[in-house]
Amino acid sequence: MTPVLVINSGSSSLKYQLIDMDAEATLASGLIERIGGQGQGAARHTVHAAPAAEGEAAPAFLDATRSRELEIPDHTAAFRVMLEAFASDGPSLADNPPIALGHRVVHGGARFFEPTLITPLVEINIDELSVLAPLHNPANLAGIVAAREAFPEVPHVAVFDTAFHQTLAPEAYTYAIDHTLAASHRIRRYGFHGTSHKFVGEAAAAFLGRPLTELKQIVFHLGNGASVTAIDGGRSVETSMGFTPLEGLVMGTRSGDIDPAALFHLARRARMSIDDLDDLLNKRSGLLGLAGSNDLRDIRAGIERGDERARLAFDVYVHRLRAYAGAYLAQLGGADVISFTAGVGENAPHVRAAALETLGFAGVELDPGRNAAPGGGIRVISTDASPVTVLVVPTDEELEIARQTLGVVRA
Ligand code: ADP
Repeated sequence: MTPVLVINSGSSSLKYQLIDMDAEATLASGLIERIGGQGQGAARHTVHAAPAAEGEAAPAFLDATRSRELEIPDHTAAFRVMLEAFASDGPSLADNPPIALGHRVVHGGARFFEPTLITPLVEINIDELSVLAPLHNPANLAGIVAAREAFPEVPHVAVFDTAFHQTLAPEAYTYAIDHTLAASHRIRRYGFHGTSHKFVGEAAAAFLGRPLTELKQIVFHLGNGASVTAIDGGRSVETSMGFTPLEGLVMGTRSGDIDPAALFHLARRARMSIDDLDDLLNKRSGLLGLAGSNDLRDIRAGIERGDERARLAFDVYVHRLRAYAGAYLAQLGGADVISFTAGVGENAPHVRAAALETLGFAGVELDPGRNAAPGGGIRVISTDASPVTVLVVPTDEELEIARQTLGVVRA
């Protein structure tokens, strides 16, 4: 067994997954929520045990998803809770200790363009990059510090959401504002969801049995956060999220693209502060702002009830997807593969169909039966004759982090 423990540490949560990299199989995963909440029962720890392989008896610890409420003041305590769960319920880390820990880090700035072995200097750099990701990097770092205390003897690797997009050319990452000001404040497009876009691009090439280096791909990662990336020969050449994960597509609660002058207007006329505007665009916009729910399933139900706000929200969402599809087809000079991933991309055939409906001219022919067929796993949803192959590719960011972690450790 080659166990790698993947850690995704948020401001009040800790997600973890133990993966056996010999089989690329999840051994256990868990989520600790509401870290820092006051009082016994404020936090919740949910453990998902992996299902037993077919034909094998399930070990005792692998038979259920369990959840319990407790008090967890900080990330160090959350780590203790996770370790106690491994010790009491298995799988035993004493019998099969992780050979490395992989940490998701949201912002690597222009400094980290590949997975990086964590040293005290790397921690200082991640901390320093908190200026660019004030909600994410401090939480990621808290997880790293707690993990290094818990596993001092094992290599820890940081895998950055921004890293895959470090191949963007200057014309793709530069905003057309005062050059000196932009440079001194490090304003540029960084792009996010990189771990997922990389995973999906590589999975698509492997599935089709074609060399990654020969493929022009467009990947739609449509979850609560949403972004699209143009990948040429395995390299990210354009992506919709920018300086922060706010730019681009319509998301669950984020506006995506908006004329910045609308914000000047709201500041002047509605007397909204910078913090108000930040909250508006990041937390109260997107599908939520348009139709009162950030969940596309609710929007769908609303449309079926004849709710006009839900209809408009869906139409705005799709209009933006088409605009980006067209732009990225132009940037790439056509595409070989278009893939959909994440919560919406994997589960909403009506979104996929609507997004591609007008792209017949570019060689995109969806097969309605394949698109609507329920099913998990990677699958083709275009016709056999379609010049562009359209895929649904379930993303697996934890596995990608574990692969990259192993790559660093073995290098
Ligand atoms: P996150 O960005 O938080 O990781 P996910 O990728 O899990 O999010 O996507 C969550 C979103 O996926 C939900 O908010 C919902 O809009 C959408 N979603 C999940 N299941 C379905 C479904 N069956 N049909 C349509 N949308 C779905």
